[in-house]
Amino acid sequence: MLDHSDATHLAAGTTPLSAPNDLDAFWMPYSANRAFKAEPRMITGAKDNHYFTPDGRSILDGTAGLWCCNAGHCRTPVVEAIQTQAASLDFAPTFQFGHPIAFEVASRIASEAPEGLDHVFFANSGSEGVDTALKIALAYHKVKGQGGRTRLIGRERGYHGSGFGGISVGGIVNNRRFYGGLLGGVDHLPHTYNRAEQAFTKGEPEWGAHLADDLENIVALHGADTVAAVIVEPMAGSTGVLPPPKGYLKRLREITSKHGILLIFDEVISAFGRLGTAFAAQRYGVTPDMIVFAKGITSGTVPMGGVIASADIYNGFMDSAGEGMIELFHGYTYSGHPLACAAALATLNVYRDEGLYENAAKLEGMFADAAHSYLADLDIVEDIRTCGIVTGVDITPLEGKPTARAFAAMQDAFYNQDMMIRVTGDTIALSPPLTFAESDVDQMFAGLKRTLQAVS
Ligand code: PMP
Repeated sequence: MLDHSDATHLAAGTTPLSAPNDLDAFWMPYSANRAFKAEPRMITGAKDNHYFTPDGRSILDGTAGLWCCNAGHCRTPVVEAIQTQAASLDFAPTFQFGHPIAFEVASRIASEAPEGLDHVFFANSGSEGVDTALKIALAYHKVKGQGGRTRLIGRERGYHGSGFGGISVGGIVNNRRFYGGLLGGVDHLPHTYNRAEQAFTKGEPEWGAHLADDLENIVALHGADTVAAVIVEPMAGSTGVLPPPKGYLKRLREITSKHGILLIFDEVISAFGRLGTAFAAQRYGVTPDMIVFAKGITSGTVPMGGVIASADIYNGFMDSAGEGMIELFHGYTYSGHPLACAAALATLNVYRDEGLYENAAKLEGMFADAAHSYLADLDIVEDIRTCGIVTGVDITPLEGKPTARAFAAMQDAFYNQDMMIRVTGDTIALSPPLTFAESDVDQMFAGLKRTLQAVS
């Protein structure tokens, strides 16, 4: 057990916080607030692959925070870059001034992206990145003289954040049903999961590429000249870890290109090494017209998101407006925020200097093997899906308990076993920092097995 009092595991100059008594005011996001507040799971510090609890326990971070701390926690080069930036240029109004590091980070991101994706628009989260990409898609067709292309196509079980654009193209019932009519003119492709055909596949399943052909049906129904863009997560993450069937993304690309429809990859989870390459687009050899990123860009330290757009899209806007005119009426006060840019640059340097994308690629086989050897035989486990260093484990619903209570019980069980693991619906998701060693992977799956045996 770690003793917090000496704080050796904390970055220099910080002290562990104690837990507050009043938990009422903070309305927690996507949380069962009452259940949580009855039995709070607090964390008060973090370093590398661990979080720390107020009672001095060290919790293995099996989810990289929320799929974002890819470089691990409180990494010194990132901490120092943020501190230095905060002391030298705290804010820059990018609607009217440039500051050098924003241009530098944009160039670095473009240099890691697939060829042809050269221009970066900054936002502050994945949700804002998604809204930005959808707006760019609609505006792009308009400036190209095809303003009739207004329809957007998402996918069942897609998660694209919490903005109105994102929940409209997203395919999660609970994210949609409370919020009125949402965006009009949206269709959804079928999701790609079929347990009968795909259960216990390591990596991308063989079955399911043909599901991309549904796009042809949607296009035939409405006319290609009404469709602006298709948005998908290359690997659906928060709705259960669904790797794309082999060949599926290539087919989507072929059909979108054939009909002049833009293809957007939401890589908020998959970007920056999670699947062993900088972007999932490279793993699958498919280049979309735009990539949405967030999370890993700063390893979760400072909020940042954005869109990487093709030269064709960018040039379409540049050529559309008169000299000195604004080309795209869109942006955020904090687009290209200096602290986020400093954090991003330092994070990208850590990824490069420590070879963390390569480490993820190297760990992938062992990760999948460990998932199967520890968990596949448990009665409670119904399916295991793996891809990069991500695993989704479907479990039999805990009987007699409403989902929210079962969910809280599982989270409690993991927390009490010194592990941070995410449970959504009936899927347990693991997505640790890319800094994990084989011994951490082993410890994580052993702990998961213990916990599943205890709750079942
Ligand atoms: N898209 C995807 C694929 C995501 O996984 C998420 C967040 N989990 C988002 C968008 C939204 O990102 P944020 O929570 O930063 O708005």
